[in-house]
Amino acid sequence: MNKPKIVILGAGYGGIITATRLQKTLSANEAEITLVNKNSYHYQTTWLHENAAGTLHHDRTRLDIKDVINPSKINFIQDTVTEIKPEDKKVVLTHGELNYDYLVIGLGFESETFGIKGLKEHAFSIASINAARQIREHIDYSFSKYHNTPAEKRDELLTIIVGGAGFTGIEFVGELANRVPELCKEYDIDRDLVRIVCVEAAPMVLPGFDPELVDYAVSQLEKKGVEFKIGTAIKECTEEGIIVAKGEETEEIKSATVVWAAGVRGNALVEQAGFEAMRGRVKVTKDMRVPGYDDVFIVGDSALLIDEVNNRPYPPTAQIAIQQGFNVAHNLAVLVRGKGELEEFTPDIKGTVCSLGHDDAIGVVFGKKLTGWKASFMKKVIDNRYLFVLGGPMLVLKKGKLNLL
Ligand code: FAD
Repeated sequence: MNKPKIVILGAGYGGIITATRLQKTLSANEAEITLVNKNSYHYQTTWLHENAAGTLHHDRTRLDIKDVINPSKINFIQDTVTEIKPEDKKVVLTHGELNYDYLVIGLGFESETFGIKGLKEHAFSIASINAARQIREHIDYSFSKYHNTPAEKRDELLTIIVGGAGFTGIEFVGELANRVPELCKEYDIDRDLVRIVCVEAAPMVLPGFDPELVDYAVSQLEKKGVEFKIGTAIKECTEEGIIVAKGEETEEIKSATVVWAAGVRGNALVEQAGFEAMRGRVKVTKDMRVPGYDDVFIVGDSALLIDEVNNRPYPPTAQIAIQQGFNVAHNLAVLVRGKGELEEFTPDIKGTVCSLGHDDAIGVVFGKKLTGWKASFMKKVIDNRYLFVLGGPMLVLKKGKLNLL
């Protein structure tokens, strides 16, 4: 009898956990499993802001996929997915095609610019290892040009604008605030000349977070020199900076570096496959499948799940993507074996920690509010735990954050 073909697209949190759980559960003769990913490595998206700010080298964030998969059970293909054809049960890659009996889509997120003029063309986004590297290099280069640039053009080289005071924006400005003093020392620049401006259209920083923790975060970041422009919308991004509006008033802020961190959407390939989607995210069934397509599962940021407590979508997070990987691997094993019960997926939110640089953070963990080193310690424990789940103690030793304080 032919073995069922399982194809997993994307080796982000959701995809790689699905693959590594399946290799633990199924024997090689129960299914033919293929994992496809653009790069030969998996990366921790939740660390990319550190790579972008230059506080952590990108090699710490990525790990070889071959180090965590068993080649006798999983066939890894390094390639780019260009099309998903659910009616033909087929996936098109840059260098070939794959047929599947079961498909798992874990292609992650893309930046959502909400149609704001010029953002796509002129702003950076923290969306991948290479995007993060580009931001780091660009900031370094801007600082390096300072002393050899005419006076009237200098200020913008030292002005870094971050669009969005949500999770990603705040974590990034936290790292930047730590990195800037080092950069100033390296390039003989007075720290007072550097501006880190965080612009947020909503009336608050970190919507959804506990207000007391938000106050702590804002005050800590302001002490490190971050300027907040809250209730202020970016209207346009140009080659020279941004135009913002607060009420009737508009202002131009000149800047060589604009980083957009205010919105994500699901991978465009999901919508292009013909699935009904909202901003690239498919409202999946309770067992993580695409409605009407019993052979297609979605994990991670391209899946939309509604929190029934408040009737709003769960935010896209690594925590949820990882849990979905476990759920989908279980459900696939049930389908392949034709026995057992499919499990419905319900996120088990253990807590949320937002870092404010390597030495400070805010969070709620198991219902307890944390700030400062305690929150930062928890963040590192969470990161190390993920590595442990993925590759055991050796992976924690190799890639973990072992300096916990
Ligand atoms: P991803 O992790 O995005 O991975 C997608 C994978 O698919 C990648 O390997 C990519 O290379 C691959 N891929 C994409 N397109 C193709 C293609 N066409 N062909 C082949 N391969 C492709 N969440 C938290 O829970 N806690 C945090 O502290 C946190 N911090 C964050 C900080 C930052 C800076 C950012 C950007 C996000 C953060 N998040 C956090 C959100 C979290 O990272 C995402 O929710 C999570 O990465 C989603 O996982 P995923 O499995 O959907 O895909």
